Amino acid sequence: MATIYPKTYYNDSIINTEDANLSVASSAILYGLSVYTVFHVTVSEGKYYAFRLKDHYRRLQNSSRIIGIDTFAVEWSFKKFQKIMNELLVANASKKDVFVRVSFHIDALLPGTRSRGLPAVLSAFVYDAEPIVPQDGARLKTSVWRRTPDYSIPSRAKVNGAYVNSVLARQDAIDSGYDDCIFLDNLGHVAELSAANIFLVRDGVLLTPGANIDILEGINRRTVLELAEKLDIPTAERSIDLTELYIADEVFVCGTSAFLTPVIAIDNRTISTGSITNKLRKAYQDALLKPSSPYVTKL
Ligand code: PMP
Repeated sequence: MATIYPKTYYNDSIINTEDANLSVASSAILYGLSVYTVFHVTVSEGKYYAFRLKDHYRRLQNSSRIIGIDTFAVEWSFKKFQKIMNELLVANASKKDVFVRVSFHIDALLPGTRSRGLPAVLSAFVYDAEPIVPQDGARLKTSVWRRTPDYSIPSRAKVNGAYVNSVLARQDAIDSGYDDCIFLDNLGHVAELSAANIFLVRDGVLLTPGANIDILEGINRRTVLELAEKLDIPTAERSIDLTELYIADEVFVCGTSAFLTPVIAIDNRTISTGSITNKLRKAYQDALLKPSSPYVTKL
């Protein structure tokens, strides 16, 4: 398990991580009513460079809107958000690249099953940027569990409680000897992994499930599509059948905690890696790690 750094932002101040605790009677604990995001920070010559910070802030705001947590937009400007993230990183004096997990929790005590007009608190902690899938190639298993549809628990919103769906599917994959799952949507189309988006290459075209499939609209997914455009790789966002993955020329996954990782096997079928994945991986690593990247914000 990744090391968590000693200082955490919680309830308007930076405190010791072990003291940042939510009540067992809070909605966050009782119903999983927290929204969150995780972003990557590159540390270079004592300076911190956060990847697509504004996009993470916006998604946190959108997740809050979907769930009915109105206070985020009122209490948190991007300027304040950025300032706190900088203070947190300075307090932890991290020398290695890290992930920052920011959550907005409803901490009302026993309000029942509702979300609007309740007090909420922001937490942010830092941990080592360790990938969740093997970087030399991931082995995936199609899950027996389906991705929660927009009409049930929206996958577009990054809500803690919704991650029971991911836990069920990823544990099933691990139990079966794989690294992660492939979720299908309720109609059987390919959706995503437990915490990453998926891409495939067929006849030179980069394909990924569209945002109308039940996926989290990943910030790294968007980055890969933008980088592909810059590299003149044709792309399409459309529904994907499972068997298209089996016969794909290349498959890879991407996400904050998965980085950009080739897929080497799906449901016991070998998948080859190839030049489009390699090109995009190189461009992605530059976008993520270089202080001169247009995608990073210096904190
Ligand atoms: N799908 C799910 C379900 C996720 O949890 C994540 C991780 N946030 C992703 C995709 C990738 O999103 P991002 O690129 O914004 O990290």
